[in-house]
Amino acid sequence: MSSTAEPANLMEAVVSLAKRRGFIYLSSEIYGGFNGFFDYGPLGAELKKNIRDCWWNDMVRRREDIVGLESSIIMHPKVWEASGHVAGFTDPLVDCKVSKQRYRADQLFFAAVVVDGKTVGYVSALESEKTVEELQAAAENFKRKKGIQGTLAQVRAYEMIEPLIEQGQKLLDATGKTSATLSIAKDFTRATEAEIPLIPSPATGEPGSLTAPRSFNMMFQTNVGAMTDGSSVAYLRPETAQGMFVDFKNVVDTTRVKLPFGIAQIGKSFRNEITPRNFIFRSREFEQMEMEYFIHEDADWAKCHEEWIAWCEAWLKSIGLPDSHLSRYTHPKEKLAFYSRGTVDIMFKYPFGVQELWGIAARGNYDLTQHANASGKPQELFDEATKKKFVPHVIEPAVGVDRILLAVLCAGYAEEDVTDEKGNTEKRTVLRLSPRIAPVKVAVLPLIKNKEALTGRARALYTKLKRKYAVQYDDGGAIGKRYRRQDEAGTPWCVTIDFETIEKPGDTFTLRERDSMKQRRITEAELFALLEDQVY
Ligand code: ATP
Repeated sequence: MSSTAEPANLMEAVVSLAKRRGFIYLSSEIYGGFNGFFDYGPLGAELKKNIRDCWWNDMVRRREDIVGLESSIIMHPKVWEASGHVAGFTDPLVDCKVSKQRYRADQLFFAAVVVDGKTVGYVSALESEKTVEELQAAAENFKRKKGIQGTLAQVRAYEMIEPLIEQGQKLLDATGKTSATLSIAKDFTRATEAEIPLIPSPATGEPGSLTAPRSFNMMFQTNVGAMTDGSSVAYLRPETAQGMFVDFKNVVDTTRVKLPFGIAQIGKSFRNEITPRNFIFRSREFEQMEMEYFIHEDADWAKCHEEWIAWCEAWLKSIGLPDSHLSRYTHPKEKLAFYSRGTVDIMFKYPFGVQELWGIAARGNYDLTQHANASGKPQELFDEATKKKFVPHVIEPAVGVDRILLAVLCAGYAEEDVTDEKGNTEKRTVLRLSPRIAPVKVAVLPLIKNKEALTGRARALYTKLKRKYAVQYDDGGAIGKRYRRQDEAGTPWCVTIDFETIEKPGDTFTLRERDSMKQRRITEAELFALLEDQVY
């Protein structure tokens, strides 16, 4: 028997488990860590690889219309000029001159403290689930500290730089929903020149130290070759997508692809995020899985777009993300880039709020056209029917591996009170990961470790299993303890080699299921059949 309760602070619990069990470490931890960079430990590296492999198998190998690519991380700087990244891949940045902290202006909120209809000061807070509550509490505190009499108005939260819904309308509602809930943003505004010196810095609590928002390019620069002058400047790619556009013609000329077809790539991307946060959700080095699906300029792009959104949702469910945590956010037309026909984000309910997991954009033929113009090399196909050349359009599903990994950890984490047949209750932590992505598929456990007949049989099974699957052999400690260890690692099945295995006919083992904790007898052939069915 068991009962499940979500821990009071799910995010804290997930971060602690990730560290404790070797999923994720801070990068360079012995030197105090390095903000925005992470390392994946033994279990994390397996989990990440499994997510990648599932995507690659389903996206590339199991489809006839998609091919794979691995382009270089550092590309010709002209790629990033043509793509618009050099000029426009920016976030609005606000500095605190006293604390030297930096904030993204669209994540820094402020509110006027209004008493009896008059503005008496300002308060600020960083974006969170509780931004509005925090601003309200800060406003009450401000009024009390200054000894101001009168009625305090409900605060209204503004970003330091803010997409306006309509003049005078507010971005945050009472539940603290963030910009993802905006539907009809038209323009941008910001804190006024007069307001900025009055807004307190979140670092010091005092006004006067925040700068006006300015644009900050998020691409990491490096120098290629021995010279470090301007001519040697190059960039670490901020997305993998441009590789697919730049190699479009190469793929067309060297393979037998025919429209519609896709080019897919998995690889590292780098963004000098102003405020990396929420663990691996927003980091400075991360991994993307992107696919450019090329279609005829006259094709029904909206239908294709919808098909890809549905494909991505189904894929997320196939690796175990619950439907209840997934939703869609359609970018308002007014906020789209001029070339974009539509963008839908698949959102995930993280413990820190509903956030973008996977963006699916209909980008027209903007990227190929830009590269054709900048390189002077046409990026066209020939239409046999119309005898005309045309530049294909593209649908782009782009997702981050790290964001998926965080989502599966958050959705899979549970703490349970478990009562055994004797009525004893204990706590267990369990990670309900889909067998498709679980780092360890099966743990092989001899009931006791000093009986050769048991360990010999267990070793033989382990050796056979590990040729095909990630498995662990564990003979250390009481069997119940070993089950708990595997529960925390997300291992779907444990196989115990016990006395019945060696003493009774049939050569059966005890199979113990992680989620139900039920046990049954199973033969080796049945175990392999189970794995074949569930791990794909
Ligand atoms: P956000 O608005 O959250 O910054 P974005 O819209 O800039 O994301 P895209 O440029 O569309 O993101 O990148 C595609 C995907 O790459 C995102 O949906 C996300 O899964 C992932 N991604 C983007 N930036 C980061 C990051 N800093 N850390 C981890 N993953 C990221």
